[in-house]
Parts: sequence; C-alpha cells; structure tokens
Amino acid sequence: MKLATRIIIALIVGAIVGIILNVFAPQAFDVLDPYLFSPLGKIFLNLINMIVIPIVFFSITLGVAGLGDPKKLGRIGAKTISYFLLTTTVAIIIGLVLTLLIKPGEVGNITPENAGSYEAKEAPSTAETLMNIIPKNPIEAFANGDMLQIIVFSIFIGLGIAMLGKKTEGLLKILEQGNDLMMYLVGLVMKFAPYGTFGLIASAIGSQGFSAIQAMGLYFIVVLLALIIHMAVTYGSTVAVLGKLNPIAFFKGFSPAMVVAFSTSSSNAVLPMSMETAQKNLKVPKSISSFVQPLGATINMDGTAIMQGVATVFIAQVYDVNLTFVELVTVVLTAVLASVGTAGVPGVGLILLAMVLQSVNLPVEGIALILGIDRLLDMARTAVNITGDAACAVIVAESEKKHGVTSEQNVNQSF
Ligand code: ASP
Repeated sequence: MKLATRIIIALIVGAIVGIILNVFAPQAFDVLDPYLFSPLGKIFLNLINMIVIPIVFFSITLGVAGLGDPKKLGRIGAKTISYFLLTTTVAIIIGLVLTLLIKPGEVGNITPENAGSYEAKEAPSTAETLMNIIPKNPIEAFANGDMLQIIVFSIFIGLGIAMLGKKTEGLLKILEQGNDLMMYLVGLVMKFAPYGTFGLIASAIGSQGFSAIQAMGLYFIVVLLALIIHMAVTYGSTVAVLGKLNPIAFFKGFSPAMVVAFSTSSSNAVLPMSMETAQKNLKVPKSISSFVQPLGATINMDGTAIMQGVATVFIAQVYDVNLTFVELVTVVLTAVLASVGTAGVPGVGLILLAMVLQSVNLPVEGIALILGIDRLLDMARTAVNITGDAACAVIVAESEKKHGVTSEQNVNQSF
C-alpha cells in the first residue's frame, strides 16, 4: 500500500478512536493518551524536527546556488513575496466578510463572562522581527531553530557559492551530498508517519472532543468555511490561471503533504514532505521549491491569518463592539503581519492573535473563548498554510519556464 494511503487511513482510524474514547470512555482515554497516543505523536514530531533544520539549510543554499545569478533570485523572490502577501490579504478578507455575515459571536450563550482569564504572552514587535532576520550569530540561529535567520544565512551562502563558481565546487558537492542524505532520512522517518499520525489525531480529538465543538460551533464552522473557500477559490483559480495546472490535479497531488500538515499542525515539521511532494507530484523544479516552500512555511500563513481575522471579529461581536471600516482595515493589516510573524509550529497563531486584538483595542482575554477549540482548528489551518506555499511554488515555476528554469533536476522519491 502506498505511504500516502496508509497515512490517510491512520488519520481516519485515529479520528474515530479519538471520538469514541471522548464520547464513551473518557477514563480509558486518560490512560491511553499518556502511554500510547501522545508518545507515538511525540516520537514522530521529534523525528521530523530532527531533520528539518539541516534540510532548510541544505535546500535553500542549493536552491539559491542553483539559480545562479542574484538577478534571478531577486525576480523569484519578488514574485514569491507578492503572491504571499496578496493571498494572505485575500484570505483575511474572506474570513472577515463571512464573520460579519454569519455573526457567530451573536448567537448562543457566549458572553464575555465565559472568557475567563487569558494571559497574553509577549509577541515580538514587527520592527524587531524585521531587524532580527539577519543572524548576528548563525550558530545561535541554528541552535534556536530560528527559521527566518537560517533562511537568510542560507541565502547568503548560496549566493556566495554561485558567485565563486569553481572555487567552491567542492563545498557545493558536499552540500549536495548532505541534501541527498537528508532526503534519504525523510523517506526513512516517513515510514513512521502512519503511527505518528494516528497518535497525534487520537490525542487531539480525544482530548478536545465534541463538547468544545458544540459550544463554539458557529465560530468553528465560519473558520472552516473560510479556509475551504480560500483553498478552492484563491488557490484553485491562481493555480489554474497563473500556474496552468488543473486545480484538481494540484490538490490531489499535494494531498499527502496536507494530511501530514493536518496531523502535525506544524508547517515546519511537514516541510520536508511538502517539498518532496511538490517536486515529485506537482513537478516543481527543485531550485524553486527549495526556495519558495521553506520561506513560505516560515512567513506565509493564510490559514492562520483567516483564524486571526475571524477570531477578532468574533470576539468583537461577543463583547458587543462594532468595528468601524477603518478598524477592519487595521485588522487586515495587522493580521497580515501577525501571520508573517507566526512560527510554523503548533498553536503560535493564537499567541500572535493578541497583537491583532490590541491593534483595535479589544480585550486579549477574549482569546480564552476560542482556546478550547483552537487545537482542532490549528490542524485545518496548517494544511491551508502549506498549500498556499505549494500553490506559489507551482505559479513561480510556471512563470519562470521562459527563463529556462525547468524540472530536470527533480528527485525520484515518491509519496
Ligand atoms: N500551526 C500553524 C503552522 O504551523 C501556525 C499556527 O497557526 O499556529 O502553520
């Protein structure tokens, strides 16, 4: 059986086991979770996190070195960032419009008193984030897993290798071999994916369960609806028009990575798999995928932006605050920044939501209202986050065809 099929089966079985335990046998869940589900999930996450930083370093360095001249890099970079910003803005607008129309915060008995207390964690300021992307100590960046800094360092190394040509031939060869080695390890680690997926899903659904969904039903539905519309309309149409790829083929080809994103709730963790899936199934050239996807996994979070937009208006509705047009525009702008600042690990989008709420003077305690349901929504929005990166990779690849960047150097591993 193909690995992708096994992962999907594990996802379904995990969800069913989680629901059954949550509804009929919560005590059994309390015993099984710490000894079975959580350890399976944790081992899987550790295994992929173990290889993700070397992969980002090798692949971006090689991607940039492979592009050759800085002009090409600048052109691809500009296209990539434009697509990221544009689609994120569209994503938030879809979320805002749906929330304003459906008004999930005005139904049922959700009141500010339900909110309880929520301590906002310190979110880094935008200026700080921007200045910090240049690592003053690359080793520290690697040790802390600071993706944006690692990306910037890798771009510099890649550029240097491209410029020095023959002089750094040996180093290039070593990096290529390092990359091959990492890709082999991805294949190895992914053999554990079905078990990890099962554990992660059973644990998430078993612990959150139905009561949370029922209480927050309409908010949950609005976020899901916005995610689906954004996927189908924004990605579907741009992939078809700009990427010249049938959207169904796109979603089908990329689905194995989406399933793993769903189970891990982490754009970073799924990165090795999303790159391989895009290169193999969507025929994105390695040099483009290696640049666009790690960058996207770090700064392009459309699903997160949707949640932040919907949550802000939802919380405003619960607190009976009418947001003006100018405030809604402020929400769009800050949610773009907040989603850029969100790291590709589980749950961070919720922390950065505080920044959006503060921008329009809404109480940060409101986050407590959506806390219970966020674990489940995190899974769905992470799948959207990485699909946006893949859509961008497909589109940039298509637009670069006339510049001679082709897919001849793709890997042969398949999921
Ligand atoms: N879990 C998300 C991701 O990794 C980030 C978030 O929204 O919390 O893409």
